[in-house]
Amino acid sequence: MTQERTLSPVRTYRDFAAGQSVLARTRELARDAAIRTLAAGRSPEKETGIRFPYYHHVFDDERDGFARQLNYMASLGDFISMDDAVAMLTGGEPIDGRYFCITFDDGFKNWATNAVPVLLDAGAMAAFFVVTGFIGTSVEDDRDALLGFYEQGDVLMEFLDWDDCRSMAEAGMTIGSHTINHVHLLALDDGAAEAELKGSKERIEAELGRPCDHFCCPFGREGIDYAVPRHPEMAERAGYKSFLTGRRGAMGRGGSPYRIRRDHLLAGWGDYQLKYFFSS
Ligand SMILES: [Zn+2]
Repeated sequence: MTQERTLSPVRTYRDFAAGQSVLARTRELARDAAIRTLAAGRSPEKETGIRFPYYHHVFDDERDGFARQLNYMASLGDFISMDDAVAMLTGGEPIDGRYFCITFDDGFKNWATNAVPVLLDAGAMAAFFVVTGFIGTSVEDDRDALLGFYEQGDVLMEFLDWDDCRSMAEAGMTIGSHTINHVHLLALDDGAAEAELKGSKERIEAELGRPCDHFCCPFGREGIDYAVPRHPEMAERAGYKSFLTGRRGAMGRGGSPYRIRRDHLLAGWGDYQLKYFFSS
């Protein structure tokens, strides 16, 4: 890690990946080779249900890849909003087709500069889950807090401000909560966990002047980052209509909106990666 890189915000995936360890990069390459082979036998066009692809960032050098991925999803099914997805899960009708409800976690500036323009070009909407305590931070004044956002450190990310969030909502995007401080809910007592769920919801509603109905659990691992049924029930009591996790898989009718599965993606991945994950 050079001193220079820690001083300037990361705007490309190339620089972001350079901040990862050699071991992490080696693992990624091995995994990529395995998925390329396995994807050959997969047929996502035969699957039905709702997929919730989930991203963190669309860096400047990931815009083309993200556009290509949206194009691939559009060839398989239809884009739906977070509200539509919850209505379909809880409604009485079978879910026969293939639907994509795109989601983003954390609250990075590149959502406004890169992700939203590409989504609008593709005629797609998405739900964006923000960490309210980081919205409106500045890379100059809040440098230490920002460098600590990733537990592995040394990555300086720019976050959205509330004007960005308002513009995104006005463009038809959903703004949901991802807590105030990007916490592991399971590490908190109930009072502190509830304060994270309620405080972030209230802040988003006050800033946007519209309801915040959807919650996405930071880190998202059942039994490690949240407990069932404790935290989904806490979200429901706080007034949320959904609780999104990091567990992979499709959702069908009758699937609980308080245990939504999602498929983590990187915007630069090839279509074969999506083909693999959308059929497993
Ligand atoms: Zn997160």
